[in-house]
Amino acid sequence: MKEVQLHDRHFSVSIGADEIDKAVQKVADKINIDYEGKNPLFLVVLNGAFIFASDLLKKVTINCEISFVKLSSYSGTESTHIVRELIGLDEILTDRYVIVVEDIIDTGITMENTIQKLKHLQAADVKIATLLFKPKSFRKNYNIDYIGMEIPNGFIVGYGLDYDGLGRNLPDIYKVIE
Ligand code: 5GP
Ligand code: MG
Repeated sequence: MKEVQLHDRHFSVSIGADEIDKAVQKVADKINIDYEGKNPLFLVVLNGAFIFASDLLKKVTINCEISFVKLSSYSGTESTHIVRELIGLDEILTDRYVIVVEDIIDTGITMENTIQKLKHLQAADVKIATLLFKPKSFRKNYNIDYIGMEIPNGFIVGYGLDYDGLGRNLPDIYKVIE
């Protein structure tokens, strides 16, 4: 079993690169059907979603635009739920089909906040695409339109996700060894 150490914690592989690729392809296939002719605008939430977005968008074959925003609420291995401002949005969303791209939805608080910040910008439609979703941790009741994979609770790293800055470059997803 592949293991890595990041700072003080040990992690072992939980989802391999091949399995991730299949999940990304599944999301891309659906988006390619649903958004044909709609020229959607992908809003990628940095930093975590950068690898998912890169792989996803290479599989998106319809015309689309891509922009990046930043909103972070995580520090260490526990969500702080201090929701910061959404920065970097300089696109006009009026009448656009927007797809917010996230790495992971845990409690759902961060995404709810992001969606609220986009609401007054009069997009035609705002949908959510996330690679990972922790259903047992989710505390909200909005719909998540595209989910790559549902995963159990527990802290993970790799494929864009970090533990205090480390681990984003790992091609597989690792879970913390308790
Ligand atoms: P939420 O507000 O849904 O609880 O948390 C969303 C954000 O917390 C994600 O965008 C991500 O940055 C971070 N997050 C949630 N779960 C994990 C995890 O297991 N590992 C890492 N590295 N970040 C996580
Ligand atoms: Mg994130």
